[in-house]
Amino acid sequence: MFGRRSSMRPITASGSGRRPIIAIFLTFALISAATIVLSVHTTKGSEHRTSVIQIAARQRTLAERYVEETLLVREGRAADPAYTARVMQASAAALLGGGAAPPVNGDDDETILPAAEDLGIQRQFALEQRLVADLTSTGETVLAHRPTAGLPETAGEHVAALEPLVRLRVLAALTSSIAFRAARDIGRVDDANIQGLLRTQVLLGVAGLVITLLLAGALLAASRRQSAHFRSLALSSTDLVVVLGSQGARYVSRSVSALVGRPESELYGNGLMHFVHADDRALIEAVKDTGEPAEFSFRMRNVAGDWRHLEASATDLRPDRNLRGIVIHARDATDRMRLQEQLTAKVQRDGFANHLSEAMEMADEEHEVFNVVERAMVEIDEPTPMELLLSDSSRANLARVASNPDQEAPGCPVKSPFSCVAVRRGTAVVFDSSETLGACPHLRGRPSGACSAVCVPVSFMGRALGVLHTTGPDGKPLGDGAVSQLSVLAGQSGARIGTVRAFEKTQLQASTDGLTGLVNRRTAERRLRELVRDGSLFAVVIGDLDHFKQLNDTHGHEAGDRALRLFAQTVKRALRDEDMIARWGGEEFVLALPELDRFQAVQILDRVRHDLAVAHPGETPRFTVSFGVTDSTGGDSVEALLSVADRGLYAAKQGGRDRSVIGDPAAAPRKGKRYATVPAADGSYDDAPAEQDPELDTSHLSLTMRAAADEEEPRPSGVEIR
Ligand code: GH3
Ligand code: MG
Ligand code: MG
Repeated sequence: MFGRRSSMRPITASGSGRRPIIAIFLTFALISAATIVLSVHTTKGSEHRTSVIQIAARQRTLAERYVEETLLVREGRAADPAYTARVMQASAAALLGGGAAPPVNGDDDETILPAAEDLGIQRQFALEQRLVADLTSTGETVLAHRPTAGLPETAGEHVAALEPLVRLRVLAALTSSIAFRAARDIGRVDDANIQGLLRTQVLLGVAGLVITLLLAGALLAASRRQSAHFRSLALSSTDLVVVLGSQGARYVSRSVSALVGRPESELYGNGLMHFVHADDRALIEAVKDTGEPAEFSFRMRNVAGDWRHLEASATDLRPDRNLRGIVIHARDATDRMRLQEQLTAKVQRDGFANHLSEAMEMADEEHEVFNVVERAMVEIDEPTPMELLLSDSSRANLARVASNPDQEAPGCPVKSPFSCVAVRRGTAVVFDSSETLGACPHLRGRPSGACSAVCVPVSFMGRALGVLHTTGPDGKPLGDGAVSQLSVLAGQSGARIGTVRAFEKTQLQASTDGLTGLVNRRTAERRLRELVRDGSLFAVVIGDLDHFKQLNDTHGHEAGDRALRLFAQTVKRALRDEDMIARWGGEEFVLALPELDRFQAVQILDRVRHDLAVAHPGETPRFTVSFGVTDSTGGDSVEALLSVADRGLYAAKQGGRDRSVIGDPAAAPRKGKRYATVPAADGSYDDAPAEQDPELDTSHLSLTMRAAADEEEPRPSGVEIR
């Protein structure tokens, strides 16, 4: 498209009509000049010709006068034919060759004549000159009374045969006739010249008219094209243009009438003002009166009844004769302003989201997350009653875990997450009024009366956790900005609660035993070390199920598992919250009982054994348990305490099982295998369960106090208490 530069014609506001105008002026000037020159020329020629005609006509008179004077002189009367003859001759010479024609008896002035130009006239004047010569020579001959027959006939007139006076008259008549004819022919030439002039003038006039018309047409077309260009530009422009005169709008562009949906004719005068926002009318009035401010914005109601924000500039063109008004150019800035508002809201939201996410990151437990949620609720743009309802681990019941501390909780009565429409839909739901048909049934009949509501589901990895619920005045739900803040809050709290729960679960899994739900050996050891470090009194117990291998062998591994679970539940029920029972490994358990000594511990263990004996194990075969017991006085390390307790257990087994035996701290530690999998002094484990000492037959040991011998150094190793 840029290749055809030569054909490119820019659209300009001026210039395209100037050339035809100049051409029109030039044509007029040329034609007028030509007409004037022609007229002057023709008139000048005419003036001369009039003199020529006069003199030619005078020759006629002079010829007749010459004859008469000659005759008078012949009759002896006074006359001067010679003078007349001289005037005639001089005039004839002037008529032919140009020059001065003398006056006659001082009647008129000497007349200067041009030389005859026309060939026919020339010939006639030459003839006339010869005739004048013949006439005057005939006159002179007559007056001299000489014969005229021999006189030369220079004009070839053939009058030799005539009688002299007749000859004289004939020559005078011929001279008169030729002079008359010459005068007539000159007059004819003059007429022809004037007619020619008129014709030329008419032609010039017609040509000038045609050229002018053509040029005017071109001018008209150019200006029409130009105004068409600018009209198209004005009409196709989306800018709103209004010209305000002292009586109101004098011009409104088509875009204005399209905006308000009214014909332009309705907007003239004060018509336009009906569409201007009431708060902005004074401003428009001021602009109309003063042209100020030059830049301003105002609102106009469009055809749909929405307020559009217009950014406008005013130009004072009152001094311009073509406009005589204030020209307002306006542009609809509503969309840009909305976008700007949205961006601002987004920035604020992002700020809210960033702060919230930082706070959430620091919340490691659920109650801390709830605390962050409450603090965030206060920061939502529109203060409103708000609560976070979360489901419990069963995911069946919703309970309020956080609410806006500045407001009364909205108190949504929904019980289960799946009765909540927002949770079911998985997206934020806005209810304008609790009274509308489509409103959530849980909103109706609240003590606070009719309300609006916004409910945002709280979920983690697609699993519903609860709902963020807010209420507001009836018919006035939260704005878009606040709703998106709520969505951010719901999203982040769901993510954090989910993460915390998942983390807690993982931790629990890592610290508990999957079969019995008891804490595992690692957790138990940590707890024991804490207790040792604290230095306060606590009891330590090792329990081992009796003849468990046999139970397994007889009833199967499943039955063994059930027995393990039954045992765990029975012990848990007998213990306090602060007590700990851990599955140490296999069918061995370790208990830590804070603030109890070994004797109080034995009492509790007795209750456990009793509960186990009377439990309803269902299909699980009955079984018993043996405990080895000590307390924090029995050693200063976890290993030492477990070793003492293990000695007690050993003694309990040796003593016949189903009993509790307090280990003897003073007894030498058992070398090699231990009964339970207790750590060695260096903290290491020999995980292979201790074999029962084959040398010890427990059946014969005393029930009250028996010696439990070590392989190498037999000596009492525990006290059995039944
Ligand atoms: P004692 O009275 O001397 O303790 O005899 P016991 O048969 O209980 O002997 P021991 O402690 O050596 O046997 C432990 C048995 O416990 C071996 C193993 O089959 C069984 N056992 C260990 N862990 C589990 C378990 O998780 N489930 C089941 N069913 N059995 C287990
Ligand atoms: Mg065992
Ligand atoms: Mg056992």
